[in-house]
Amino acid sequence: MRARVLGSASEGGFPRWNCRCVGCFAAREGRAWPRNETCVAIAAGDTAERWLLLGAPAAVAKVAASDPTLAPVPGVRASGVGAVALANGGPGQTVGLLALGNHEPLTVLSTDAVRRSFLEGNVLARSLAHGRGRVEWVPLRLDERCLLFDGLTIEAVAVPGARAPHARELPATSNEDNVAFVIEDARGKALVFAPAVGGPSASVDRLVDRADVLLFDGTHWSTDQRGAAPLREHDSSGHWPLGGAEGSLLRLAQARGRRILVHVDDTNPILLENSAERVELQRFGVEVAWDQMEITL
Ligand SMILES: [Zn+2]
Repeated sequence: MRARVLGSASEGGFPRWNCRCVGCFAAREGRAWPRNETCVAIAAGDTAERWLLLGAPAAVAKVAASDPTLAPVPGVRASGVGAVALANGGPGQTVGLLALGNHEPLTVLSTDAVRRSFLEGNVLARSLAHGRGRVEWVPLRLDERCLLFDGLTIEAVAVPGARAPHARELPATSNEDNVAFVIEDARGKALVFAPAVGGPSASVDRLVDRADVLLFDGTHWSTDQRGAAPLREHDSSGHWPLGGAEGSLLRLAQARGRRILVHVDDTNPILLENSAERVELQRFGVEVAWDQMEITL
């Protein structure tokens, strides 16, 4: 299996257009690597031509268009994107569907709760029914493997997390609102994609132990993101901070496979390569994803 990171930041990217934090300043001045919103492309192997996109952030079509590995295959089909999987109904996972689905048929995989949180009351989502393509929404049931293509399977696993802000007015929350994905290839290699994990749980423990490669929620270092962003208030709900005695870093350090952080907020000091927090990550053997990063399993 092969994974290509198209984006590794949280919503808004890095630098964020309206932010004056230390990290965003550094990114604008070329002292930190800029990042798109989190999106990861998965293929069965080096020669496979079909890709599964994990997440559809706002700029996904533009990012995919500029990435040579995802270029359309002449004479075969319009695009190398075989399917898109959504871990939750948040804007960072869903908004890009409007751009992708208006140009060719699209297969979207999600739990029923995530599908409803995106479609219900969403006037813009109606444009998907009027575009050139047809959107086929494939429901994922928790803890059940779904066969994709080229021998790849995907499985949704419920993890703690917050509901998408616009979905909080919908009735009845469920444990399908926020999931992690396990992608397995024909050889049984497992990549886990968990961009939003609100805290520890038995399901998170199983995912950490199961992953050959773990792409995990690196949104915040701490609930107050010390030293990074005095100018903006944080909404840290829904994301387990990395640092401190109760932080996720101590759990990730025990993982069996490679562990790599995605969905990193612009205010997180780990985006600065010489920060103390970045050094601490290295001490625990935890990596930070970067755009165009290639991962082979
Ligand atoms: Zn910032």
